[in-house]
Amino acid sequence: MLQKNTEKFHKIITRLAKSHSATREELLLLLKNRQELGQEQREFLFSEARRNATRYYGNKIYLRGLIEISSFCRNDCFYCGLRRSNGNATRYRLSEEEILTCVESGKRLGLQTFVLQGGEDSYWTVPRLADIIRKIKKASPTCAVTLSLGEMTRSDYAALFEAGADRYLLRHEAASEGLYSKLHPKEMPLSRRLKALKDLASIGYQVGSGFMVGRPFETIEDTADDLIFLKNLAPSMVGIGPFVPQADTPLGLHCPGTSDETIFLLAVIRLLLPSVLLPATTALITLDRDGYEKAVLAGANVIMPSLTPQTARQAYKIYDGKASAEDTVQQIEIIGERLKRIGYEISLDRGDAKKTGEH
Ligand code: SF4
Repeated sequence: MLQKNTEKFHKIITRLAKSHSATREELLLLLKNRQELGQEQREFLFSEARRNATRYYGNKIYLRGLIEISSFCRNDCFYCGLRRSNGNATRYRLSEEEILTCVESGKRLGLQTFVLQGGEDSYWTVPRLADIIRKIKKASPTCAVTLSLGEMTRSDYAALFEAGADRYLLRHEAASEGLYSKLHPKEMPLSRRLKALKDLASIGYQVGSGFMVGRPFETIEDTADDLIFLKNLAPSMVGIGPFVPQADTPLGLHCPGTSDETIFLLAVIRLLLPSVLLPATTALITLDRDGYEKAVLAGANVIMPSLTPQTARQAYKIYDGKASAEDTVQQIEIIGERLKRIGYEISLDRGDAKKTGEH
């Protein structure tokens, strides 16, 4: 039986690597047999993923400077430590000056992409955000500004794009209605998330989406549906990282996801979407000290060192145990050394997404 599955697995990976597509049945077979697969089969999957990443991006790993601008959030997602009902969360909001200082320090290190991330904080109105985006763009006209600030109306997204934002990260979290509703309160329907993703793409943003690996309540079918959803969405970026529980949330007692499954899914996503920008996320590094190397060797090609001031970094606690010890210079040095050991190198370019077929 195992031998039969191994042969099927080999066939699916070979087809995936060539045609970048798989049926739901094939994806289910891969996901179901993940833990039974031998080292040889796993290495086959990872080497095909690496080959596809290298075809588009060579041995370069793009760095993005992450600035966590606010830990206030009006939402109440069941898995997130920043949820409004968490009375134990430490709340902070960086000032405009602090954000510009973070960007300035990133620029000095050569970074050319800045990711402004935060909860849905009503202080950060569209005019305030647009103003800061314009200031960043004025000071560094060639840099890319990525936003990760949750759901907004189409006209709000359009105003921020007009102000100079280039990219937007909004994880879909779960493509299945059933799972999405177990992770979010009723006032956050999946339909609104999907509309937001559609709006972002139609405005012209380079869109990023994704989900947590090993979410409470998820089934293998849910994960297969997430992969199909991403394939159809064809985003420029996909962010996946293991679910890591935060003790003060309703899902705080659930088991975390695993590094093993995350790495496996990174490789499958690289084969489904060969030219996508695929980060090795902080959540992965939190669970696995060798996460950068494993992720890159499975097809990841982006790392996001934090530019957030140290005190705020500790308070931006979406999950427990978040890896955040070093300052940015040290982080970049360490990342560079670790990548060098596995034959990769840091790229400080803007690193826009390439289209499949464009090398
Ligand atoms: S996941 Fe995002 S929107 Fe949900 S509570 Fe956390 S910060 Fe807010």
